[in-house]
Amino acid sequence: MTATPRPFNFSAGPAAVPEEVLTQVAAEMLDWQGSGMSVMEMSHRGKEFGAIHEAALRDLRELLQIPSNFHILFMQGGGLGANAIVPMNLSRGGAVDVVQTGVWSRKSAAEARRYADVRIAADSATPEGRYESLPAASTWQLRPDASYVHVCSNETIDGLEFQQLPDLKALGSDAPLVVDCSSHILSRSMDWSRVGLAFGGAQKNIGPAGLTLVVIRDDLLGRALPICPSAFNYQTVADNNSMFNTPPTFAIYVAGLVFQWIRRFQYAGKTGLAAIEQRNIDKATLLYQALDGSSMFTNRVAPEARSRMNIPFFLRDERLNDDFLAGAKARGLLQLKGHKSVGGMRASIYNAMPLEGVQALVSYLKDFETQHG
Ligand SMILES: *Cc1c(COP(=O)(O)O)cnc(C)c1O
Repeated sequence: MTATPRPFNFSAGPAAVPEEVLTQVAAEMLDWQGSGMSVMEMSHRGKEFGAIHEAALRDLRELLQIPSNFHILFMQGGGLGANAIVPMNLSRGGAVDVVQTGVWSRKSAAEARRYADVRIAADSATPEGRYESLPAASTWQLRPDASYVHVCSNETIDGLEFQQLPDLKALGSDAPLVVDCSSHILSRSMDWSRVGLAFGGAQKNIGPAGLTLVVIRDDLLGRALPICPSAFNYQTVADNNSMFNTPPTFAIYVAGLVFQWIRRFQYAGKTGLAAIEQRNIDKATLLYQALDGSSMFTNRVAPEARSRMNIPFFLRDERLNDDFLAGAKARGLLQLKGHKSVGGMRASIYNAMPLEGVQALVSYLKDFETQHG
């Protein structure tokens, strides 16, 4: 069987899944490991799915080095759901400080206002309302009574990423840090000593939409407001090992295969998450160098704040946008159109994007510039 190579998919989410994983899912679709069932047909309480669930938990904990005083919860509701579920669980109706660095943290602040007294601790918007840099942590106005501080560690739409999580203790705050890491979870290691709770939808860097990962420090359980739905109460979900209600079983299964794929991933003499991180650095460096070296394309984000995962860029002559997208599609480079709120183009190069995909995009940028420059 000769398979035609699949196009390179630069979608921001739902996004590309490693081809090896898709192939395995296809092979196991009708009969998971001799069980006679598809994973989507299994009881979530049966021993087959129990094994899938436990392996996924174990592999995720090992990959991200999640300490034993954190619970991993497999939930639903996505990032936007978490914007409500987090304040219902952690705010006690009191103060919440939010650092605004782009579209997603703004949405988090807006939703949290329904449940808590939200204050914007810092906001790096330009006078035109664009996000092109991160506010220095020393300038953040943190309240002593904040129940938590929210940051979005990778702003998917604006293309900004924290290269290090803030150390709130060093800033004089005892509040737990809440991190929306939807669009770069598992692209790099994470410093759990700085984290109270991290959440992320799976559809960017892990697998199918429908699964939301929550990693929560144990002392933050049991604080939910009475209005919090039981299925979204972290204590209830933790007490039931994410089986208080039916979890998104098929999405957990695919996520588990992605975790295994990362564990065996090799690159540049490294294995596992370190290998994935190195390849992500190399991919992003290649693309930013091409953009910075071009007189036709531009990325406006301050170099130290640039995302490794989501790279927005603009054609200096926006009248060429449609030609650019049509030519990209003809070369098998898909879903490069920028988010409607920012415009231009965006290349999302999550874990599943091979180096060859970024090389193909860079060649296209050069050819397009030669043709139209
Ligand atoms: C995609 C995304 C979300 C929203 O996720 P949904 O699953 O659509 O609710 C939230 N935060 C960030 C950073 C995202 O990239």
